[in-house]
Amino acid sequence: MSILNADLHCHSVVSDGTMTPEALAARASGNGVELWALTDHDEISGQGRAAAAARAHGMKYLTGTEISVTFADETVHIVGLGFDADDPEMHAGLRATRGGRGERAREIAAGLLRAGIKDAYEGALRYVGNPELISRTHFARFLVETGVCRDTSEVFRRYLTENKPGYVPHRWASLKDAVQWITAAGGVAVIAHPARYKFTANEEFALFTEFKAHGGRGVEVVTGSHTPAEYVKYADTAREFGLAASRGSDFHSPDESHTDLGKLPYLPGQLTPVWDLLADRIQ
Ligand code: AMP
Ligand code: MN
Ligand code: MN
Ligand code: MN
Repeated sequence: MSILNADLHCHSVVSDGTMTPEALAARASGNGVELWALTDHDEISGQGRAAAAARAHGMKYLTGTEISVTFADETVHIVGLGFDADDPEMHAGLRATRGGRGERAREIAAGLLRAGIKDAYEGALRYVGNPELISRTHFARFLVETGVCRDTSEVFRRYLTENKPGYVPHRWASLKDAVQWITAAGGVAVIAHPARYKFTANEEFALFTEFKAHGGRGVEVVTGSHTPAEYVKYADTAREFGLAASRGSDFHSPDESHTDLGKLPYLPGQLTPVWDLLADRIQ
């Protein structure tokens, strides 16, 4: 069923969002979301709260996360949906993926200091809801608050992306491990916002091919990170690779996100919605 207001990608204070799982559930429900998943970066400790809040609002729920992966020297995000949130291997894998974030944050702050920005580590920490999950987004909020930049996109452009003073190369999980943690825990792995990666056509083909070979089954087609032309392009890619399609706003914050929870076009027809693969995992 592609005519369903499913929002299967968003972030809470458990990673780099600004709202609690409960407040997100209320907002999603208010916006007409029928099937919801909270997909915090490299974290599933908000899943119990999100599922309970979804239930309280009469929304269906799928467990979720967004795993940081390094593929062809780029960071790729893999969304996991409908897995068992108590799975020990999943917990261990995500804990290991989060592990390098503290040291990386110190290095980001050192880079920013060389660019004349003091105390960025302490500043970013003020925005962190989960001490294990300090992200570039928290630095971006600090630089906006202190007036260094007008908005978080400007911070990323000027400070936090490749060749900029606060950019620190980092090795995340492997594609194979991320897909296997999700699938071994009974879930479905989904390539998040494929249009965001700076891959050549060959690299993108390799990503999709290897993802499928490891057991990946879905791709985000309609996401807050894609333009309408990209919905069409990745609908074609989904068909070409025999992948199911997902839909999600990637909502982080009312002040920062241009796509609100549930406020997206429906999936194009003739695609298999990822939730059709997960009927028995819906709570
Ligand atoms: P990290 O996992 O610490 O590398 O942070 C990645 C997060 O930064 C993403 O999930 C987005 O929330 C945010 N982000 C990445 N690029 C941008 C951008 N250009 N503008 C605003 N936020 C961004
Ligand atoms: Mn994020
Ligand atoms: Mn992402
Ligand atoms: Mn995301």
